[in-house]
Amino acid sequence: MTSQTSTGGHTDRDTPSAEQIRRAPKVLLHDHLDGGLRPGTVVDLARECGYEGLPETDADKLGIWFREAADSGSLERYLETFAHTCAVMQTKDALKRVAAECAEDLAEDGVVYAEIRYAPEQHLEAGLTLEEVVEAVNDGFREGERRAKANGHRIRVGALLTAMRHAARALEIAELANRYRDHGVVGFDIAGAEAGFPPTRHLDAFEFLKRENNHFTIHAGEAFGLPSIWQALQWCGADRLGHGVRIIDDIEIAEDGSVTLGRLASYVRDKRIPLEMCPSSNLQTGAATSYAEHPIGLLRKLHFRATVNTDNRLMSGTSMSREFEHLVGTFGYTLDDMQWFTVNAMKSAFIPFDERLAMINDVIKPGYAELKSEWLFRQTVSTSASAGN
Ligand SMILES: [Zn+2]
Repeated sequence: MTSQTSTGGHTDRDTPSAEQIRRAPKVLLHDHLDGGLRPGTVVDLARECGYEGLPETDADKLGIWFREAADSGSLERYLETFAHTCAVMQTKDALKRVAAECAEDLAEDGVVYAEIRYAPEQHLEAGLTLEEVVEAVNDGFREGERRAKANGHRIRVGALLTAMRHAARALEIAELANRYRDHGVVGFDIAGAEAGFPPTRHLDAFEFLKRENNHFTIHAGEAFGLPSIWQALQWCGADRLGHGVRIIDDIEIAEDGSVTLGRLASYVRDKRIPLEMCPSSNLQTGAATSYAEHPIGLLRKLHFRATVNTDNRLMSGTSMSREFEHLVGTFGYTLDDMQWFTVNAMKSAFIPFDERLAMINDVIKPGYAELKSEWLFRQTVSTSASAGN
């Protein structure tokens, strides 16, 4: 039997391996700093600051606990996970360590550009000021970028400052984001329970940022439907939507397969509004029922500006590579699809246009071109091997 080289159809030439997915340049726009700690770091930091509330003190068991609590379908248990991570992120050293490891872990996973968000107001319990929190996290990201470089990886990390929807500090945090915009902070976000806390509650913060020509994204259309997305865009003026999965409610598919977009879905697509989609997280919170049913499949087909993100790497036991592995396995995505999502994300980043363009042309496209050329060499090797038989 001679070795058979693949011909036609969907072949391994198209389907990236797990190893190629990891090496492919990736861009991450939606990831929470307090949702991405290494389990071992949570254990170390708890010991250092005398926090005794952890449900497990063995790093492996704690990692499993986080995933199970997030999987449980119970909002209380889900929120409890963040109470633990925030509890151990109350000093400059702790914040710096978490931020540095975040940048390091992402770079190791092939992420070349990331915008990482956190709520400064959740890190004041031990007496830090908002400014000290921002500066400690910035120091950590720079340290992580340096360590990644020393390990042969290149990554650039920007911070998004988040205000909590249920609190009343949005304007103060927006002003903070604006003060640090040329110093490591690239934009603003609001997060927290959607129901009962519409984004219009924080209109003053968004209006301030618009007057300052600054950028912001809003968690909308995750737990709550179209009204939340509509408010985020048409009342608040969001540049991007955190999740936005419920936009699917404004898309009708007829029995013959024809698709009709409602006014809001049309607006989102026409205006190229970026959707920060987080498939694994959506399955845990019930915003989607399975990878196959996740709206990202249809939205990609319809050419919405969809992007792939992790949300909370610790709680979802995920990474950018794992998210893409799920999508490749479910929808048969190729390296071309991965590149499409990655370019979408880079176009939607909050750094200046010329820098986005340079990342696309000098880092992302060459990275994918190299991966896409690999099959040529694999085939040469297997052909010459079979010729020798
Ligand atoms: Zn989120």
